[in-house]
Amino acid sequence: MARIIGGIGSSHTPTIGFAVDQGKQDDPVWAPIFEAYRPVRDWLETKRPDVLFFIYNDHVTSFFFDHYSAFTLGIGESYEAADEGGGPRNLPPVRGHGALARHIGQSMMAEEFDMSFFQSKPLDHGCLSPLSVMWPYEGGWPGQIIPLAVGVLQFPIPSARRCYKFGQALRRAIESYPEDLSVAIVATGGLSHQVHGERAGFNNPEWDREFLDLMIDEPETLADMTHARYAELGGWEGAEVIMWLVMRGAMPEHVNCLHKSYYLPSMTGIANLLLEPAGAGPETDVKAQRALIGRQLEGAEALTGTYPFTLELSVQAYRLNTYLHDMVKPEHRKLFLRDPEDSYAQAGLTEAEQTLVNNRDWAGLIHYGAIFFGLEKLAAVLGLPNAAVYAGMRGETMADFQKTRNVPGAVYSVSDIKV
Ligand code: FE
Repeated sequence: MARIIGGIGSSHTPTIGFAVDQGKQDDPVWAPIFEAYRPVRDWLETKRPDVLFFIYNDHVTSFFFDHYSAFTLGIGESYEAADEGGGPRNLPPVRGHGALARHIGQSMMAEEFDMSFFQSKPLDHGCLSPLSVMWPYEGGWPGQIIPLAVGVLQFPIPSARRCYKFGQALRRAIESYPEDLSVAIVATGGLSHQVHGERAGFNNPEWDREFLDLMIDEPETLADMTHARYAELGGWEGAEVIMWLVMRGAMPEHVNCLHKSYYLPSMTGIANLLLEPAGAGPETDVKAQRALIGRQLEGAEALTGTYPFTLELSVQAYRLNTYLHDMVKPEHRKLFLRDPEDSYAQAGLTEAEQTLVNNRDWAGLIHYGAIFFGLEKLAAVLGLPNAAVYAGMRGETMADFQKTRNVPGAVYSVSDIKV
């Protein structure tokens, strides 16, 4: 069974990553940052957690307002450093613990948290700035991460209470995972700062110190506070500290504080908090939790010829589904029609994937993990009606398949093709 061994709270200012990249350990301006992180770094080195569950917010880098979500969980196997305008930092990719992430995703959905999921999106300073100072990465990162991006930039955003409840459910999710893994929860953000408007440069060290104390002993007080109250006390962007409550909610009621620090060099209060459970937390009923997770799809396996599109399939067939989805781009479909081999090569399709597409093997594509709505696009590009795909999946001719419809003459496509 996976277990939570500790919780870390940390700021995620770009300055931390800057200090790391510039080797500023001995520079008096930056040395306090490295000093502050040393106990966290030492703790991680001693405890060697298998996985860091990493709560952060993206700063309009990988996620934009064309589609903005509240809780977005990384379910992939690897994450690159994002380019935030000046090229990506020179950091090795971080391995994700996809299997645990997908279990957590299922468990959170089962508890009625309507999650979003991502893969193949790079991580910005919200995650990698603090990670790079607490986890030595030369020669590869020492473990795996599960990133959780919380949408805190475009209002409405989750309440502090919702973040706290998320953490409580996260504990049940982690503890119901069958493999023996040790997990540390890392929450990032803040502390007090404001970076926009005439109030830019606002800080409140007194509140920051009180916030750290409340995190340890009175998280309920913090969970009750509104966004406006957080902004009043800690600046508008400082309100992102509500993300810390996810970590606190995942920890037991009573915690031991092993380390607490605060340093304000410029715009944002850089804080560190290291917590360990004091005694046992709320017991997770593992059997009941697993039953809850499995409940919605229980019995679906008996539906022959039916293939639920799960997070596992989504990750497994991501390359192929990306290729099919790209049929919405005129250049991609033109290249596919003109020179399929070149198109496959550019997309990095495997031999098996190429054969499935070449053979218009609709059933094989579904078995492989393609989503039907990608096949529908491929068919449109090929000038085929949807019925060609349906018939192919059933192993019938199109004419025979049409005979099974109420109106056999009703033949259509998602596109304006001649049928
Ligand atoms: Fe931030």
